[in-house]
Amino acid sequence: MKTNSVRSRERSNKLFDSAKKVIPGGVNSPVRAFKSVGGTPIFIDKAKGAYIYDADGNRYVDYIASWGPMIIGHAHDAVLADLTATAQKGTSFGIPTEMETKIASLVTEMAPNVDQIRFVNSGTEACMSAVRLARGFTGREKLIKFSGCYHGHADPFLIEAGSGAVTFGTPNSPGVTKGTAKDTLLARYNNLDNVEQIFKANSDEIAAVIIEPVAGNMGCIPPAKGFLEGLRNLCNDYGALLIFDEVMTGFRLALGGAQECLGINADIVTYGKVIGGGLPVGAFGARKEIMSCLAPEGPVYQAGTLSGNPLAMTSGFSTLSILKGDSDIYSRLNGKTEYLAKNMAAELNEKGVPYRINQLGSMLSLHFCDEDVVDFETAALGNNQLFKSYFHFMLEHGIYLPPSAFESYFLNDALSYNDLDDTSHVFREFLKSI
Ligand SMILES: *Cc1c(COP(=O)(O)O)cnc(C)c1O
Repeated sequence: MKTNSVRSRERSNKLFDSAKKVIPGGVNSPVRAFKSVGGTPIFIDKAKGAYIYDADGNRYVDYIASWGPMIIGHAHDAVLADLTATAQKGTSFGIPTEMETKIASLVTEMAPNVDQIRFVNSGTEACMSAVRLARGFTGREKLIKFSGCYHGHADPFLIEAGSGAVTFGTPNSPGVTKGTAKDTLLARYNNLDNVEQIFKANSDEIAAVIIEPVAGNMGCIPPAKGFLEGLRNLCNDYGALLIFDEVMTGFRLALGGAQECLGINADIVTYGKVIGGGLPVGAFGARKEIMSCLAPEGPVYQAGTLSGNPLAMTSGFSTLSILKGDSDIYSRLNGKTEYLAKNMAAELNEKGVPYRINQLGSMLSLHFCDEDVVDFETAALGNNQLFKSYFHFMLEHGIYLPPSAFESYFLNDALSYNDLDDTSHVFREFLKSI
């Protein structure tokens, strides 16, 4: 086997033990703790290109790319040079800098229906602020969201389906109030009739529909034909705003994100992940009429001490400029992802294991199940036992996959066809082992 087998993970294990003493669960974001696959997380020392290296010196081919941001590969030389130069001039002022206008102009050029954009520090903040803005703009309070879509950890999004026919959400985390939950109405992804029912039952109360235009937090689930068009029409008919959460898809599926890739415009778009190129950045944008409701121009309040931070803006600007300057990058990423999907499918067919592979652009997910994966319910049908063995086998052989069956893979441009072949080779060995 070409790919190195992982030797010891002794140091990672020790680091995790120390971390657990002073950080809840040893991690600063739950999915990192490997809870759904079991075992001990690896601790990272460094990364370059398509590879991450753990604290014991083991190398892994990285298929999560920091959950998306590192689309041009880790520690890209040009981005590092820009960051170093910026850092030397000071790292935060709380006073405007020219770079904020430069990145805002670049993004508004890439997404033609976005006239103005406000920068924040995370995808969560972007989505939370977008919803407040939609409520302020429409003067309405209710929000439709889809089961299985993730929009960060703000209260209105931590809601799960209730048992009623037209679903009223119930909090799925202690600490979220019933009052908040009653304003979030839950719908099923790829089910337009369900959304229409909810609109009918709450006709002039719905401020916005928020959706991942290509879902990436229940595996990768592309929208069914006509689904987003239908949502666009319903929002127009009922006077609600359509919010595309492009935290994952923005600058990943195309420069103009899912909007460009699928040819549908939202009213408000949220960004995160790639927009910061590996530093903490989120953003939300819309046409001028909507954005001018924001403070200090309008009454909807939103602020941030580190928003538009010079290092973060530089990393984002540098990354987006590289994407823009490379007209082949999206077809290259797409080609690599299709190649990997095709090879994995061939191995699975040969072995006769039931599966579905969903793929769009550089997002991909493998589900060990026998039914099309189109929403949260079907995503949950996968064989989790098999997923766990798959995850750990790949990890042991130097392939880092998302540690949950509900997460998408994010391919990066630094991956070579050799890396992809090594991955298929390890995958074949895994299938032999079961
Ligand atoms: C990651 C993600 C978020 C949250 O972004 P954070 O930066 O983690 O707060 C929101 N929406 C989607 C679609 C995401 O994938």
